[in-house]
Amino acid sequence: MNAKPRGRQFFNNPGPTNIPDRILRAMDRPVIDFMSDEFVAIHHACHSGVKRVLKTDQNLFLYSSTGHGAWEAALANLFSPGETVLMVETGYFSDSWTEMAQHLGLKVEMIAADIRKGADVAKITERLVKDKAHEIKAVLTVHNETATGMVLPLAEVRRALDEAKHPALLLTDTISSLASIDFKMDAWGIDLTVGGSQKGLMLPTGMALTGVSNKALEVSRKAKTPRHYWSWDMMTGRAPQKFVGTAPVHMFFGLQESLKMLEEEGLDAVFARHARLADATRAAVQVWGSDGKGPQLFCQTPDRLSNSVTAVVMPEGVSSDPLRKTAVDRFNLSLGGGLGKMMGKMFRIGHMGDLNEPMLLGCLATTELAMKASGVPFVAGGVDAAIESLAA
Ligand SMILES: *Cc1c(COP(=O)(O)O)cnc(C)c1O
Repeated sequence: MNAKPRGRQFFNNPGPTNIPDRILRAMDRPVIDFMSDEFVAIHHACHSGVKRVLKTDQNLFLYSSTGHGAWEAALANLFSPGETVLMVETGYFSDSWTEMAQHLGLKVEMIAADIRKGADVAKITERLVKDKAHEIKAVLTVHNETATGMVLPLAEVRRALDEAKHPALLLTDTISSLASIDFKMDAWGIDLTVGGSQKGLMLPTGMALTGVSNKALEVSRKAKTPRHYWSWDMMTGRAPQKFVGTAPVHMFFGLQESLKMLEEEGLDAVFARHARLADATRAAVQVWGSDGKGPQLFCQTPDRLSNSVTAVVMPEGVSSDPLRKTAVDRFNLSLGGGLGKMMGKMFRIGHMGDLNEPMLLGCLATTELAMKASGVPFVAGGVDAAIESLAA
């Protein structure tokens, strides 16, 4: 059921995302025994499929949880209280990951960054080189900071660790990049990847994953943080894995269909589609703010702009709340808001997952309409620029 009785809701939050009808239909079926041969075969197929999306031949654990659960699994399995990790500041999600690590008893050091410009990767090398005693156990990153619409170049971060010849693990949150923006777990030397179901995988919220390198799995055997539900040990012993509790079979019915859709389109085509839709979104925003008085792109580093979400900062003194409220209440368009310190100061256009040109143009045109109706200053013509961009 849509939030409004008329028409279909245009849903452009940067997570959760639109669930394709194909996935909803695939999930609309009776339950099966999670110990049955039928489910075990589905579980195996999904494991291999998710590994292809992660581009890894190493280990994978799926959880019945949100992405936060997979973060907690990562921290609880890899570290002992009192150990130090290095967090690369990106924004709201690096802050929440920091808070979680601190709650679990870890010491978190931050590579501080201007979150509109992005972290300086050279600072990571600098810090690691100084850590002669190898007290830093891991570098924690967010691949795609959903709060700011910025990507962190992970291949460069990998090189930063290599240049420093530092053995720290490299962890990354790919919740809003996986299956929208290219990610290469093994080629980039990522030791731990956190993912979630409700963004690029186009599923309901409630399933999360960690890709785990062999090195990380080895490290986990010595980690002392208490764990049970999240314990990789508890999940090992049956192929491809055990769930601590009942396996969420309906999430697997959906996941199997999602993987089928991604493979039919082809991952490269999926990434290209996201790049195309993101370019069009940015073209619109750049026109809206072209006189310096309208909304602007939050991310100021062009080669780090996210292809799955665009964060748009409001003009000084203009709240984004009336705009978002008008969009959803009058026109049935749901846009993301600002998170944490940016609440009320920005809106975010999610363009990840199951989205095409007409859906995006509907969103951009209606955003323009809602800006007009709620009195936000902007330069008209953003939609024309998006059309030009998509037609090119
Ligand atoms: C959405 C998101 C999360 C949170 O995921 P949950 O499933 O809500 O826990 C974490 N990190 C990033 C980068 C996200 O986009």
